[in-house]
Amino acid sequence: MKSSLPSFQGAVCPVPLPHRENIMIGHGSGGKMSRDLIARVFVPAFDNEALNAGDDSGVVTIEGSRLAISTDSHVVWPLFFPGGDIGRLAVCGTVNDVAMMGAIPLYLSAGFILEEGLEIQILERIIASMQTAADEAGISIIAGDTKVVQKNKADGLYINTTGIGMISPHVQISGSHAKAGDLVLLSGPIGDHGIAVLGARGDLGFTSEIESDIAPLNHLVRSMLQASPEIHTLRDPTRGGLATTLNEIAIQSQVGIHIQEDRIPIRLSVAAACEMLGFDPLYIANEGKLVAFVAPQAAERVLEAMQRERYGKEAVIIGEVRSDPAGRVLLHTTLGSTRIVDIPSGELLPRIC
Ligand code: MG
Repeated sequence: MKSSLPSFQGAVCPVPLPHRENIMIGHGSGGKMSRDLIARVFVPAFDNEALNAGDDSGVVTIEGSRLAISTDSHVVWPLFFPGGDIGRLAVCGTVNDVAMMGAIPLYLSAGFILEEGLEIQILERIIASMQTAADEAGISIIAGDTKVVQKNKADGLYINTTGIGMISPHVQISGSHAKAGDLVLLSGPIGDHGIAVLGARGDLGFTSEIESDIAPLNHLVRSMLQASPEIHTLRDPTRGGLATTLNEIAIQSQVGIHIQEDRIPIRLSVAAACEMLGFDPLYIANEGKLVAFVAPQAAERVLEAMQRERYGKEAVIIGEVRSDPAGRVLLHTTLGSTRIVDIPSGELLPRIC
């Protein structure tokens, strides 16, 4: 049957349209373009309190229990890279987004879009890696789906995971809860994941030993909450890096976040790769790090709890929250100057997660 509607491909368009817009790679960046797309298309259409909160998970209350639910699609290329693979990423990414609400992650579902021709042995390796990550996190993958698309319609495979976790009654964590006076804690060095994936693509122009930091952070979060309930905000600085995550929190909480350049840990190898490529490590993705906004009187206790955990050994305090400038992140540099750390517009490094 012929349709009189404008063709999706744009080949036939009997009705002149005033202005057409297309999805661009930058809409997947996690930066300003992603935010604008979500605010324009998804939030007004789906419009509900849990979604509109804009946190890493939607939080709902069912018969008195608070549940955090999060979903994430993984399109990283290549499928394997130093320190991990798409399977470990798909489990840890969703476990971490649930944990960033202070929830205990319990169950995951996994949806697979497989490309015709993918070697089953490769799929088996990725599935084994998913189960290893699930064991480490202490969660179970209890539901799944498999679809296959024709050759050249996908890069091997894509994985979507959805996770659910429970939040204890005393835990009240949100990106909108950061307060003036809070100290900003970072769980370890930044930029490892993004640079490791670039290295695996051969984009560095030199060989590197940098490994991705992919890790499940739920045990770290549990220890932090045992140390003190006065944790106001948690977030994992993934796409768009630490700079983007801090900007999201500054906007959500309407506070000024002040960070000290000389306190931000960066491995020498990552700093050297960034320098050569002209990247700012503040914008490079991490997959095993978190930032925490903690009441000042509890910060030392939470920091010590982090440093006792495998994925928090290198945790440090990198700055503080003030009331001004609301919605902004300021970097106090080693040279004594201060600069605004902006949210990036489009895509810096596509297909990093
Ligand atoms: Mg996140």
